[in-house]
Amino acid sequence: MPPIVGIDLGTTHSLVAICDEAGPRVLLDEQGRALLPSVVRFLKAGKTSVGWQAKNEAAQFVDSTIASAKRFMGRGFTECADIAAQMSTQLMQGPRGLAAFNVRGAAITPQQVAAVVLAELRRIAETRLHTTVTRAVITVPAYFDDAQRQATRDAARLCGLTVERIVNEPTAAALAYGIGHKNKTKTNGETVAVYDLGGGTFDISILRIESMDAANPTMGDAFQVLSTRGDTRLGGDDFDQLIAEWAQAEIKKELKVDAFTASDIATIRMAAEHAKRALSDHEEAAVEIQYDQLMKLQSCAVIDPRVSPVASTQTPANTNRVFRRTLTRAQFQNMIAPLIARTLDAFTHARADASNITIDRVVLVGGSTRIPYVRAQVAAHTGITPYTALDPDQVVALGAAVQASILSGARTDLLLLDVIPLSLGIETQGGAFAKLIVRNSAIPARATEMFTTFKDNQTGVLIHVAQGEREMVDDCRSIARFELRGLPAMPAGIAQVEVEFLVDANGVLNVSAVERRSGMRAAIQAAPSYGLTSAEVERMERDSITHARSDMHRHRVTDLAVNARLDVKWIGEALARTHAALEPAYVQELQEMLRKIESMCAQAETDPMAADADALHKAKEQLDRQSVHLHETSIAQSLREMRVAPTSKPTA
Ligand code: ADP
Ligand code: MG
Repeated sequence: MPPIVGIDLGTTHSLVAICDEAGPRVLLDEQGRALLPSVVRFLKAGKTSVGWQAKNEAAQFVDSTIASAKRFMGRGFTECADIAAQMSTQLMQGPRGLAAFNVRGAAITPQQVAAVVLAELRRIAETRLHTTVTRAVITVPAYFDDAQRQATRDAARLCGLTVERIVNEPTAAALAYGIGHKNKTKTNGETVAVYDLGGGTFDISILRIESMDAANPTMGDAFQVLSTRGDTRLGGDDFDQLIAEWAQAEIKKELKVDAFTASDIATIRMAAEHAKRALSDHEEAAVEIQYDQLMKLQSCAVIDPRVSPVASTQTPANTNRVFRRTLTRAQFQNMIAPLIARTLDAFTHARADASNITIDRVVLVGGSTRIPYVRAQVAAHTGITPYTALDPDQVVALGAAVQASILSGARTDLLLLDVIPLSLGIETQGGAFAKLIVRNSAIPARATEMFTTFKDNQTGVLIHVAQGEREMVDDCRSIARFELRGLPAMPAGIAQVEVEFLVDANGVLNVSAVERRSGMRAAIQAAPSYGLTSAEVERMERDSITHARSDMHRHRVTDLAVNARLDVKWIGEALARTHAALEPAYVQELQEMLRKIESMCAQAETDPMAADADALHKAKEQLDRQSVHLHETSIAQSLREMRVAPTSKPTA
C-alpha cells in the first residue's frame, strides 16, 4: 500500500509527517529541518524557489515572493483588501473574482502558491520514505469555510496529491495526543480546548470528542467542533514588535537619533525575536544589535566610538560598537500581558458559544505557546495543566499523520493504551532506576515517592525520567530531564523531594517534584509511548528477564554503596566533632571500619558485578551497631554546647 502522509499547510510554516507503528513523526528535509517556510518565489520562465531559500531572499525579491498565501485561500478579492494592506505583495482580481497575487502583472492564485509548497513537502516525504507519495491528509483551520477547504483540495490536485481527508487543525492536535483513541467502554468522551498561538494568528477551538470504536475507527462523527474564536492579527509577531519598540526607544535615547530606516527596523526586530525566544528558556535575555548593521547610524556622528554614550551600558563587556540591553521575563510579561488577556477573553467567549461546557483538557499549539507566561496564564484561566508534551510547532502535522494512518488501516498495531506498556521511573544516585509506576498498570495511574539530596548544600536536583524494565537507568529508555532548582542550603539527606508521576487517560505523563520544606516545585510533561513500537516493548521485556539476576545484583550494590557512603560521611563528621570525648581505641576501631567500607564502596562503584553485596551489607550493619555509642556521645555533647552557649557567647 502506498503511504498516506499528514500535512500541516501553515500560514508561515508547513510540515509533512508520517505515522507508522512507532507512532507519528515529522519528516525532515536534507538539512534535518522539520519546518518548511510557506514562502514561494516565482522566477521568470515559470520556475519557482520555495521554503528557506525563498524566505531568505524575500527582502531582495519583494515583488515576486509570496508569503502567507493561506490568508487568501478561497477568498474573494474585495473581502481581502484589509489583510492585503499589511502585506508587501500586491493583490489583484483572479478567476471568479477570487483574490490572486500580482506577480509581474500575472495573476498567481493562492492555490498555485500552496501547490508549490505541497510539492516540496511531497518531495521531502518521497526522499525520506524512498517511495512515491500521492495521498495525503491536509489540515485547515476549524473556521475555514467550504470555499477555503475546496481551494486547499485544488492546491493538492495541482501538484498531483490526492486529499484523502481535510482535517481541522485543532482536531489534528487532539489526535496527536491520542485523545479519542480509547476503548469505547473506557470513557464517555472528552471536551478539549485547543489554544493555538502562532506567529500572526490566534485560534481557540472547543472540541467534543466521543471515543472511537476501536474495532471501527472511522472518525466521522467522533470529533465535533463546538465553537471557534480567534484573532487573525494577534501572535508572536506582535510580541517581537513590542520588544522592538522598546529597543528602538532605548537606542534613540542613547544615541540621540530620531528615526530609523526600514532595514534598521528589520534588524532590530530580528534581535527582538531572538531575545523573545531566549526568554522562553531563561530568566533574562539580551537584545543585542551590532551598530554597524544599522544603516541610519552609520551616517550618524554619534556612532563615533570615542563619544558613544553606549559605553556606559550595564556590563563592562559592552564594547562601543554594540547595543546591548538585558530584558527580564517580568518586563516581557508586562509588555505582552494585555495581548494575552485578549486571547483569554476569546477563550471565555468560545466557551460561552459552547454553552459553557466543562473543559476536560487543554492542548497548546503554535510556537508562541512556548512562552512560560502564556502557559501559566492558560493554566490559571482554565484550572487545567495544558498538554505541552509534544512540540507545539509539530503537533498539528503529527495529528494529520495519525489520521492518515487510521485511514490507511495501518494503525492497528499501534500502542493504543489501556495499560502502561513499560515501567516508568527516575534515575537515583549511582545510576539505578527507581520504578514509580510498574508496567501493566491500568491507565490512568498515579504514584509518588520521596527522594532526598546526596550532597551538603545541594541547591538543585536533576530529575531524569525513564522507562523500561531493567534495573539500571542506562539500560532503559530516557524520556525527559528537568531540574528542581532553588532549594535552600541543607545538609545531605535532609531535603524531602516528593516526586509524583501521573499518567492520564490519554497516556500523557506528568512528572512533578516538590521539596517539602521550601515548597520549591518543578514539573515536566512527556508522551512516553511516542517512538515506541510493540516489538521494542517485547524486546525490553525479554532483556529484563535475561538479565534479571545480574540486574538485581547491580541495583542492590549501587543502592548499598550510595547509602554506605552517606553513613561514612555522617559518622566521619560526628567523629571529627567528638573524638576528644571518646576512648582512642573506639575511635580507631570506627576509623578502620570507615576505611574498609569506603574501599568496598569504591570497588562496588568501579566494578559492581564483582562486588560482594552481602559483605557490604554486613559491614554497613556492623558500622551502624558500632556507631551507636558515637551518636549518643555526639548528641550529649551537642546538648552541653547548647547549654553553655548563651553564657560563653552572649548574643546582642
Ligand atoms: P503560525 O501558526 O502562524 O505559522 P507558528 O506556530 O510556527 O506560527 O509560530 C511562530 C511563532 O512562534 C513566531 O512568532 C515565533 O517567534 C514564535 N516562537 C517560536 N519559538 C518560540 C519560543 N521558543 N519562544 C517564544 N516564541 C517562539
Ligand atoms: Mg499554526
